[in-house]
Amino acid sequence: MNYRIDEFDREHLWHPYTSTISPLPVYKVERTEGCELVLDDGTRLVDGMSSWWCAIHGYNHPELNRAAEEQLGRMSHVMFGGLTHEPAISLGKLLLRIAPPSMSKVFYADSGSVAVEVAMKMAVQYGVASGGVRKSNFVTIRSGYHGDTWNAMSVCDPVTGMHTLFGSALPVRWFVPSPSSRFGGEWDGNDIAPLRQVLEEHHEELAALILEPVVQGAGGMWFYHPEYLRQAAALCREYGVLLVFDEIATGFGRTGKLFAWEHAGVEPDIMCIGKALTGGYMTFSAVLASDKVADMISGHSPYVFMHGPTFMGNPLACAVSRASTELLLRSGWQELVAGIEAQLREELAPASHLPSVQDVRVLGAIGVIEMKQPVDMARMQRRFVEEGVWVRPFGRLVYVMPPYVITPQQLSKLTRALVKIAGES
Ligand SMILES: *Cc1c(COP(=O)(O)O)cnc(C)c1O
Repeated sequence: MNYRIDEFDREHLWHPYTSTISPLPVYKVERTEGCELVLDDGTRLVDGMSSWWCAIHGYNHPELNRAAEEQLGRMSHVMFGGLTHEPAISLGKLLLRIAPPSMSKVFYADSGSVAVEVAMKMAVQYGVASGGVRKSNFVTIRSGYHGDTWNAMSVCDPVTGMHTLFGSALPVRWFVPSPSSRFGGEWDGNDIAPLRQVLEEHHEELAALILEPVVQGAGGMWFYHPEYLRQAAALCREYGVLLVFDEIATGFGRTGKLFAWEHAGVEPDIMCIGKALTGGYMTFSAVLASDKVADMISGHSPYVFMHGPTFMGNPLACAVSRASTELLLRSGWQELVAGIEAQLREELAPASHLPSVQDVRVLGAIGVIEMKQPVDMARMQRRFVEEGVWVRPFGRLVYVMPPYVITPQQLSKLTRALVKIAGES
């Protein structure tokens, strides 16, 4: 393949997790259509990534475009301090309608990582209000991913995250092993023991348990048994520690439920959403909280929640989020996701016989091939482009989470490429 790399980009633009000296190649996208990315040389790629969990309706959707254009005609932004607007109000109503019933407050933020920062600040303000200054640390499970900002990073997996590098600059959190019981497999009662022990010994200094319910995303693409959440929630209640669910990746139907907490039926005290919230149009997130949390924070000095980003409640983002969520709710997403799940199961199964493959797993519209060895990302990326698909592996994980509107033919193109290229390693 003879793909021409843009010189300016290579010399001056820093891409995610790359070196400036020998950057991995990047492909220049000229436009997007439905479930396809069109490169500047005309190459069409079937999208397997939904731009990192976001573009659930595919790209360039007329309804989302219209929502953005109409809002742009009225106002793109006003500050949220002392002002409000219809897009924020109607989105808030919609989110609370689909959120866990105990959620009653909505705090808008800029991105997933910022939502995690906000949730952690809420938990600390709650902890300090309820139990004193010591109640300000966190416990989490390994293999998690919660974002790249400071506190979010501190609760990411300490090995695959960046803890060695940032070491002493990072707040030190409590980590327990991630549950070994698979989603859909047998529940092993031993899985909960480490969490019970940490809560028993350290609950007085713990504000919250934070984790991704059922599906751990970028930290390992692992699907675990919902019983873990039921037992963890009971322990959190017993020890007076808040439960924070990071549903930034799992939200909006991706796992086969609208939100992943529904697999377990346990509600968190605080919940972060983002990514697919805007249908992939722009950066935006929200933190949902229960009255219990909001009242405790508001009832104790300083009697307010201490956070307020400049672009909080951005009207454009709210309008597109509302349009995307309404579109999702009437899209028949359950059938779409169930169809993708069944097809992924069937068509990725052959990969489990490959000598280079450790494990194949599927949940909802997520398909994962876990390799035995880390992959050569640049080479594999190029091979995927040659096969006409967009898949970005990392570490030992080759995975897809396509837009829900992908056709069976497009999905087959993805799975064929996945199995073929996994077999080349
Ligand atoms: C992507 C992600 C984040 C961070 O979101 P950004 O928008 O990239 O800041 C946090 N938590 C989870 C579970 C995520 O998948």
